[in-house]
Amino acid sequence: MGRFVKATDALMAYLTKTGARETAAQVKCREETAKMPMAMMQIAPEQGAFLQVLAKLTNAKKYVEIGTFTGYSALSVALAMPPDGKLVCLDVSKEFTDKARLYWKDAGVDKKIDLRLGPGLEALDRMIANGEGPIDLAFIDADKPNYDGYYERVLKLLRPGGCVALDNMLWSGAVADPKETDEQTSALRALNAKIQTDGRVDMALATVGDGVMLAVKR
Ligand code: CA
Repeated sequence: MGRFVKATDALMAYLTKTGARETAAQVKCREETAKMPMAMMQIAPEQGAFLQVLAKLTNAKKYVEIGTFTGYSALSVALAMPPDGKLVCLDVSKEFTDKARLYWKDAGVDKKIDLRLGPGLEALDRMIANGEGPIDLAFIDADKPNYDGYYERVLKLLRPGGCVALDNMLWSGAVADPKETDEQTSALRALNAKIQTDGRVDMALATVGDGVMLAVKR
């Protein structure tokens, strides 16, 4: 968590309760997903709220996410977008996204969401080739070694002033430990360093959840 705040269990519980406004569909999605073995792949409710605020700030009508899982992030953004908002959700898992579809339908946002199953890099390449940009907002939360590839493609799709948020950029603190040299940690550490000096964007690494890097295209 932050430099000035100790992340106690009580504080995290307070954050879940007070740090976001959740609809019934979001609560259902979050609580059912929390019982799954891969539950740690779900974003925290305050991250959903954070994405909603980003959607409002960017007046987002076109959103792309890489890594949808059981649908909480897309559900949050869809709820914050106007009725003509369009979301493209990329994921490799039919099993997880079948659950996502149920929550989206519950919330009445399923018509806004175009779910595409398959490898994210190829899907983004197709979007670029088909001229599916410009987009306003993107969220990257998938396999870490490919983050740089997702980032580069998303930058091509974003409009100037559009924003990309990248999840897990603090990786439970491992990025700050030079002894952690596994592929995932190394990929995230390198990308943080790259974005910090990337003249194509303005950036901030926010201590929301497991660390969310924000980059706004110049
Ligand atoms: Ca994540």
